Amino acid sequence: MPKYTGGCHCEAWDFETDREPMFLYQCNCESCRRLNGSLSIGACYREGEFRLEGGEEVRYDYKGGSGQMMFTSFCPECHVRLAVRPEILPELVFIPLGIFSDPNIFKRINLEIWTSTKLNVIHDQNCMDLSVADSGTAERIGAFLEALDTR
Ligand SMILES: [Zn+2]
Ligand SMILES: [Zn+2]
Repeated sequence: MPKYTGGCHCEAWDFETDREPMFLYQCNCESCRRLNGSLSIGACYREGEFRLEGGEEVRYDYKGGSGQMMFTSFCPECHVRLAVRPEILPELVFIPLGIFSDPNIFKRINLEIWTSTKLNVIHDQNCMDLSVADSGTAERIGAFLEALDTR
């Protein structure tokens, strides 16, 4: 069995990997708020470190808080968000935590961004390693990755 498995709600799409995520993030930006109903929590992988397979996918591409494009893949049947690929960090893929079969295996969020627009009703039990008020710019995420000693 792969270490991590998951998929969309209608089960057309499957996710699996044996790799640990590079980091877990939470984004409180206004786009994530609207697109997800409240905020985004996800696991960051490098392209090719996971298997994400299904049939058709639909895309929604939008300009993120950094001014760069975000390329988002959805299941066309259940409309679950499967993966987000940021133009600004081309080798990285954000996998929503909600598609993991067992998301509670993760205990900490390594990087929280856009706390300036965070919903007042969200309280997160001190699970954030680092919180920043604005966007995770490429420089900031690059510096963050260098500081990570995990790989
Ligand atoms: Zn689906
Ligand atoms: Zn966001």
